[in-house]
Amino acid sequence: MKLHEYQSKRLFAKYGIPIPRGRVAATASEAKLIAEELGGRVVVKSQVLVGGRGKTGGVRLAHDAEEAEDLATQIMGMKIKGLPVRKVLIDEAANIRTEIYLGVANDRRARCPVMIASAEGGIEIEEVARTMPEKIIRLHLDPTQKLRRYQSFYIAQSIELPRDLWRDFYKIAYGLYEAYLNTDANLAEINPLVITDDGRLLALDGKMVLDDNALFLHAELEEMRDLDEEAPEERRARMYGLSYVKLDGNIGCMVNGAGLAMVTMDVIKLFGGEPANFLDIGGGAGAEKVSAALRIILSDPNVKAILINVFGGITRCDEVARGVLSALEEMESNIPMIARLVGTNEEGGRRLLAKSNMITAISLADAAQKAVAAVKKGDAE
Ligand code: GDP
Ligand code: MN
Repeated sequence: MKLHEYQSKRLFAKYGIPIPRGRVAATASEAKLIAEELGGRVVVKSQVLVGGRGKTGGVRLAHDAEEAEDLATQIMGMKIKGLPVRKVLIDEAANIRTEIYLGVANDRRARCPVMIASAEGGIEIEEVARTMPEKIIRLHLDPTQKLRRYQSFYIAQSIELPRDLWRDFYKIAYGLYEAYLNTDANLAEINPLVITDDGRLLALDGKMVLDDNALFLHAELEEMRDLDEEAPEERRARMYGLSYVKLDGNIGCMVNGAGLAMVTMDVIKLFGGEPANFLDIGGGAGAEKVSAALRIILSDPNVKAILINVFGGITRCDEVARGVLSALEEMESNIPMIARLVGTNEEGGRRLLAKSNMITAISLADAAQKAVAAVKKGDAE
């Protein structure tokens, strides 16, 4: 789950990181009021869950409250990378001397957190990594320890931060690492962290990505979820406890188990097909969950065939079949469906499905080939 900039920065502030004064507005007149409170010179910042807003005109400087109102009107009429802007953050404008990058991320390969810094802030770190990789400093951290002063000094020195700012930099880096650890984040990022023209460090932008699997530990963070920003299918999937990721292909997949779902996608690709989604119905899924899953897959207009691959252990094949049938009762569909059900109660499952037009398969390879063939046949017709 991604947090909005204003949410990330509020969280940062709780950890002692200095942020500009500011508030969120949902209308232009509200934006004007906030700008007046802040003295007129403000930045108007679109709150959408993508980076690079600055380059697309989603972050603009206003010289007075009237201009802030105008810009808020403009920005709230925009779509940024396909996302409509519903809120703007009005922040007191800063006078920037230098822009720095500072972030903490999971380093999967090293199996520990990594603090990343660069003197080239303000641009996306991926771009810095591509064009000037030597400008990126990395420091691996122990997740059981707090950030030590010498560690932050090493980073400060590496990015050539003026010495008189090292103490303040330590507080910020320390706070950022605490924020990252305490929220079970995958990413906590300040870009840019600026030095203002009066020589202070200030976090102008904030980004946090939280681990969905740890959110149950953080009710107060779960509440920050912005339902407007999610794909409706993904929201519905989460309601039913399904792991669903939409992809670009045309073969819908319904599988129990994340590993098996990955393999299923691989095998579809092996036979020349393209999966339309990743979907793990989880262990022991009942008919209701299966039916919800099938409805989600069917709501994707790109789907030309559906492959159901169930390896029944805790999950019972007859339950899966019941779920499939109940979804099909509700929404008629002539999309070809291929089922490969093996394991617990597979006989029962097959008997139930025999009543529908389901194509059955004896192995995953067989199922994938049949799905690919069904798509080709559909294209030819
Ligand atoms: P992003 O493009 O989505 O990462 O949005 P940012 O919040 O990082 O803003 C983009 C850029 O706008 C920053 O790198 C700054 O150069 C500029 N910017 C943001 N806030 C201010 C501000 O208060 N004053 C000035 N002068 N520039 C700002
Ligand atoms: Mn930024």
